[in-house]
Amino acid sequence: MTHKRKIIIIGAGLGGLSAAIHLQHNGYDVIIFESNADAGGRANILRENGFSFDTGPTLLNYPFVFENLFSYAGKQFYDYISLLPVDPSVSFFWPDKTVFTLSSDIQFFIRECERLKPGSESSLLKFYADNSFKFNLSFEKLVPKNADSYLKWLSGVKLSSLLKLGLFRSMYGELNKYFKNRYICEALGSYGMYLGGSPFALPGIFSILPYGELAHGLYLPKGGIYGLVQGIEKLAFELGVNIVKNSPVRKIIISGNSVKGVELASGELVQSDIVISNVDAPTTINELIDKKYSQNSVLPKKLLMTPSVITYYLGVKGIGGNFPHHSIYLPENYKSTFEDLFQRYQIPEEIPFYVSVPTATDPSLAPPGHSIFFILVPVPLLNQPGDINWSETVDKIEKQFQKRINLYGFNINQKDIIVKKVLTPLDWQNKFGLYKGSAFGAAHTFFQMGPGRIKNYHPKIKGLFFTGASTTPGTGLPMVVLSGKMTSDRVQQYVC
Ligand SMILES: Cc1cc2nc3c(=O)[nH]c(=O)nc-3n(C[C@H](O)[C@H](O)[C@H](O)COP(=O)(O)OP(=O)(O)OC[C@H]3O[C@@H](n4cnc5c(N)ncnc54)[C@H](O)[C@@H]3O)c2cc1C
Repeated sequence: MTHKRKIIIIGAGLGGLSAAIHLQHNGYDVIIFESNADAGGRANILRENGFSFDTGPTLLNYPFVFENLFSYAGKQFYDYISLLPVDPSVSFFWPDKTVFTLSSDIQFFIRECERLKPGSESSLLKFYADNSFKFNLSFEKLVPKNADSYLKWLSGVKLSSLLKLGLFRSMYGELNKYFKNRYICEALGSYGMYLGGSPFALPGIFSILPYGELAHGLYLPKGGIYGLVQGIEKLAFELGVNIVKNSPVRKIIISGNSVKGVELASGELVQSDIVISNVDAPTTINELIDKKYSQNSVLPKKLLMTPSVITYYLGVKGIGGNFPHHSIYLPENYKSTFEDLFQRYQIPEEIPFYVSVPTATDPSLAPPGHSIFFILVPVPLLNQPGDINWSETVDKIEKQFQKRINLYGFNINQKDIIVKKVLTPLDWQNKFGLYKGSAFGAAHTFFQMGPGRIKNYHPKIKGLFFTGASTTPGTGLPMVVLSGKMTSDRVQQYVC
């Protein structure tokens, strides 16, 4: 009888689970060590008093990526997970009371754009056509491609097509080509925040982010984002992946220039000549590998990370009034707010807020007659601003938030708040191993994309691989699922 080759994965985030599914399906014997009690990583769950809060992600895009994950393993995504469409998708609010709402219903969206900028219909249709080209090209030829040099990465893409990607213009500049309206550009440009960059600095190719959501829809899995995690974990389990929870890995064992296994916090040694770390890649390199190998580090000299976040979880009596499922509260001085966050590394005077009320779409996440509010506020990284008193900041931001929503006639009455939890950058760092508390991992600047991004293998340590948000192709739930597939491809190439 032949033994299957054993592979250790550290961390059961979605990148780790995806790598496990791909490899186990290809005949390997995968064991995952996860430090927390639940799988999912940042996409975790916080349960209290009958409320089920998603800890991190709340927006689900690009269902085709998840459908492909299941069909790769010979299964049907929709046998495991139900998706509830969220449409209209996101509403944006400004201090001057301007409101703008996105929708995948193109007629609705045309009306919204025409309301803010009469005559925008033709440029909107051009935006759709151009970005459909960019989106398809990116997903077919660039995003899922393991390539070690720019030449290899871009080979297969015609020069004329490359020039259409907007690589040499900023994301904001690219949006402004189509939408000559401040509010539309600011709303669509704010998607850059997920990639850790200001829309004034990120490359114009990222106009595909708002396009992708408009064209492919926005969803909430039944049971919240954790419903998706549970479906994926179930698939991994059925294939035979062994997920060992409450088992932090203390270090990766290396001998010579080869990986030999891992040492658990319990002191137990587990051997394998292939180890994949799904722990945020910069954390893996700085904390799980012996310092002497850091010289051969795979990190760029000037690694840029996405900002951190403070997240609030409120379980509230009442059904949440007329709050939309997703809303974003943008500042009056948009550019200076991004400069505060990404250049001056300070908490902006006018904080932007993202608010999700998932019970607007799936009431079963809260007890009957109750609702959930999730509030996310981007803040600098732990190493950036010097001394921030997080507990004071948490209170200050909460007051700003209440004041801001009152502007639009929204209100969350203090006496109706039954459960309140807050995660600060320190919690994000300590609970999930996020480097400097960075919520979304390595930033997506021009030089941290494709082959410029942290590689998904260690070039100097044989048998050591990475998967997840800080490595290729990037951050976000669909991207880390692709990352798991790309790392699995690397491992299989290595074994051959
Ligand atoms: C607040 C927030 C909001 C977000 N919103 C969205 C959104 O709306 N939509 C979207 O698509 N994306 C969103 N994202 C991004 C998305 O959550 C991430 O890109 C993705 O979940 C990262 O997955 P990963 O594979 O990198 O693993 P991670 O989620 O980072 O998981 C890594 C795992 O490793 C484990 N671990 C760490 N150290 C050890 C150790 N020493 N031993 C064993 N295990 C260890 C951790 O516990 C964790 O389970 C959000 C992220 C955050 C933080």
